[in-house]
Amino acid sequence: MSDICVAKHAGFCPGVSRAVHLIEQAILDGKGPIYCLGELIHNRIFNESLQARGVRFIEPQDIPSLPGDALVFIRAHGATKDVYQTLADNGLEYIDATCPYVQKIHSIAASATDATFIIIGDKDHPEVQGIVSAAPGKTAVYGSFAELQEAFAGKEPTDEPAILAVQTTFNTDEWKKCQKFIKYLYTHLKICDTICSATENRQREVRTLAAENDLTVVVGSRHSSNTVKLYRIAKEVGGDAILIETSADLAACRARIRAANSILITAGASAPGSIIQEVIKTMADIRNEEVSFAELLEASFKTLHTGDKVTGIVSAVSASELKVDLGTKHTGILVYDEITDESGIDLTEKYHVGDPIDVVCIKFSDSDGTVQLSSKRLDVAKHWDAIKAAHESGEILTGVVKEVIRKEDTYSGVVVTKGTSRVFIPASQSGIAKGESLDPLKGQKVSFKVIDINEDRKRAVGSIKAVQRAEKKLAEEEFYKTIEVGQKFVGTVRAIMNYGAFVNIGPVDGMVHISELSWGRLRPPAEVLTIGQKLNVFIKSFDPETKRISLGYKTPESDPWTIFTNNYAIGDVCDVKIVSLMPFGAFAEIIPELDGLIHNTQIAAKPVANPASVLNIGDKVTVKIVGIDLEAKRINLSIKALLEPEEAPVEEAPAEEAAE
Ligand code: SF4
Repeated sequence: MSDICVAKHAGFCPGVSRAVHLIEQAILDGKGPIYCLGELIHNRIFNESLQARGVRFIEPQDIPSLPGDALVFIRAHGATKDVYQTLADNGLEYIDATCPYVQKIHSIAASATDATFIIIGDKDHPEVQGIVSAAPGKTAVYGSFAELQEAFAGKEPTDEPAILAVQTTFNTDEWKKCQKFIKYLYTHLKICDTICSATENRQREVRTLAAENDLTVVVGSRHSSNTVKLYRIAKEVGGDAILIETSADLAACRARIRAANSILITAGASAPGSIIQEVIKTMADIRNEEVSFAELLEASFKTLHTGDKVTGIVSAVSASELKVDLGTKHTGILVYDEITDESGIDLTEKYHVGDPIDVVCIKFSDSDGTVQLSSKRLDVAKHWDAIKAAHESGEILTGVVKEVIRKEDTYSGVVVTKGTSRVFIPASQSGIAKGESLDPLKGQKVSFKVIDINEDRKRAVGSIKAVQRAEKKLAEEEFYKTIEVGQKFVGTVRAIMNYGAFVNIGPVDGMVHISELSWGRLRPPAEVLTIGQKLNVFIKSFDPETKRISLGYKTPESDPWTIFTNNYAIGDVCDVKIVSLMPFGAFAEIIPELDGLIHNTQIAAKPVANPASVLNIGDKVTVKIVGIDLEAKRINLSIKALLEPEEAPVEEAPAEEAAE
């Protein structure tokens, strides 16, 4: 047995692997001349091999002087907004190999429109500079926990909103300390843990394995931040550690290599596999290990097992399958059925060479050097975990209604898919009124809460109604915070009762009492209002505790006497409607809720004994206003006055015959 072991997570990370694939492809396709913004990876030998194939390394300030046919290559670290703008201004074509993990942090930074964007990382690192440039507002960069402490010494906590992220390759322990510190300073802080899992795994592994070995050999560049961090961790927890760029550097450390009983070899994210293998071989030579190079190499390759979850890089795409580079000697095969259950998906459109992809190893075949992979099974587990987490936390999920379940005319519910998980929403929880069709929900994107799960059967039950209830409650609470007595609304009549009407004003209903609905005698609400009618109302009183709102309808401006006196005077002629007949005359409506009296003596040229012999209820007649008594609230009208050329003196109506 060799006492040299190779870390499982040594070498190219998915982001670097993707960038390398993309530039190799561009060289093969004869594109160019290719100008890479900064060195593609922190590895001199690899970069020199690219230069030998025509790739030139440039700085952002060189872009304006590039030839028109230049192809600019943006490496995994990404670039600043200014770089993209300069490329556009100069009409240059470019390949963007920004790592998807880094792109995600650009999006987080871009979302900080109303918050300070804080990032923990090296302010001079191109990845951090690119991320910071994506933030639209205030930004702050802190390089370490010590820097944070110094910056905030003596400062009081603030409720200013802030978003906190971290450079992908930052030290995980230092990041934990920074988070703990900063969350007490910003009471409205959203923390986004953006340390890349490849980095995290690599660092975690070294922390464990370096402590178990006498010597740790870290392969990578001294300019690579993740390589230097590996070296520091190994020094902290292990006995001895060496940082080398190539196998040639081992010559200076022969004594330490020979003296160590056990050695761990790890490598930064930008160390090519060929260099790692050369280091293994040279070390075995130095130690005169009996184990052969082939065995060591084999040992370094055989790091995956059935059930292992890993991020690979798509290396070929066809309509029926993907080939995935896992960084092992086995070629990963991901067939259509292990990607999705949906039919008709064009894999060549959805996936591209160089894309990172998360997969699980399901079957190894040493005879043909392949490993069968599945991304679907990983998704199933991931989505079920998300459903379980949402059940525990009460988080609101969104999904699309795929099926409506019904038996004959009875709807039992709908099925919503969330990724690969299916959530059943019973009809009673659908938010649709009992007995109504659930068909309109089909194909709709809905928000729901998970209200029950069956872990064994991987079944979940959801509720759209619970979300609607919660949203309504929230809206009501907000509404009560903003309203005040006297505030006016245009409401909608929702229900009519004997004692008044419920009127909807936004998220709540208020009650308009019967006494508010008429100025004269009380009239049954159903006589005055109809369902759906718009009504100008105002808040008379409200109680946020009991959730009761009393609405007013009558205002001085809506008083019919105010309207009448503002618009009519004695001598005016108007059209009125006969509303009731009395032995002494007929009452006629001048404007809603205000009637005047046409006395028997004023109905025709000569007095009539019985008004019903001349007029009918509902008749429309033209009258002259011949008397207004504001104190007694009486209006006298006359048809006769319009029949005679000369107005005859008018007798005041007897008091007991007063108009309303
Ligand atoms: S270390 Fe992580 S974030 Fe950085 S390039 Fe590699 S995969 Fe992307």
